Amino acid sequence: MNLILMGLPGAGKGTQADKIVEKYGVPHISTGDMFRAAIKGGTELGLKAKSFMDAGNLVPDEVTVGIVKERLAKDDCKKGFLLDGFPRTVAQAEALEEILAELDRQLDHVVYIKVPEEDLFKRLTGRWVCPTCGTTYHEIFNPPKEAGKCDKDGSELIQREDDKPETVEKRLQVNLEQTQPLIDFYENKGYLRNVDGKQDIQNVFEDLDVLLKGSNR
Ligand SMILES: [Zn+2]
Repeated sequence: MNLILMGLPGAGKGTQADKIVEKYGVPHISTGDMFRAAIKGGTELGLKAKSFMDAGNLVPDEVTVGIVKERLAKDDCKKGFLLDGFPRTVAQAEALEEILAELDRQLDHVVYIKVPEEDLFKRLTGRWVCPTCGTTYHEIFNPPKEAGKCDKDGSELIQREDDKPETVEKRLQVNLEQTQPLIDFYENKGYLRNVDGKQDIQNVFEDLDVLLKGSNR
């Protein structure tokens, strides 16, 4: 099962990735983990990536692609993989096709966990935290008993910078602009499968599971 899992922030991608890994036993390959491992392992590409990151620059595609290629060639990927956070651009998606061809593999599924933007916005801006004890709440999923107040100590809840509406709006916009060309790319290739991410976690997983059991082509 060679899978790419896509979804905007707040779509529940991480949760679903964990469930897929648990059920199917394929390695979860996220770009962040892959970079950390390459840097820790001191590989040539890892050191290259580190030099860009230390200088505060984006790691160029050829380095990222090289790291992905090394990772996908490892033994634990023989029965499949779940890619998360890569590809991020159409250029990377094209490079991935080449990598897979060289490894004599092909993609089985590109799954997009689709959630309307207004729902993502509500999910992402709903988080509040208690400045006194650190307990986090969510307006929808885990609301405090009394609005705006901590259940434990009655403190006035505050919102982290990352969870504020302006920040969330910008983050969603940037991600959407980045993701749309990739969605179009895989749609045109006939790989893309949408899963309705508005449902609860278990139902999203059941839909995913049906997709993963079927063949994409
Ligand atoms: Zn508290």
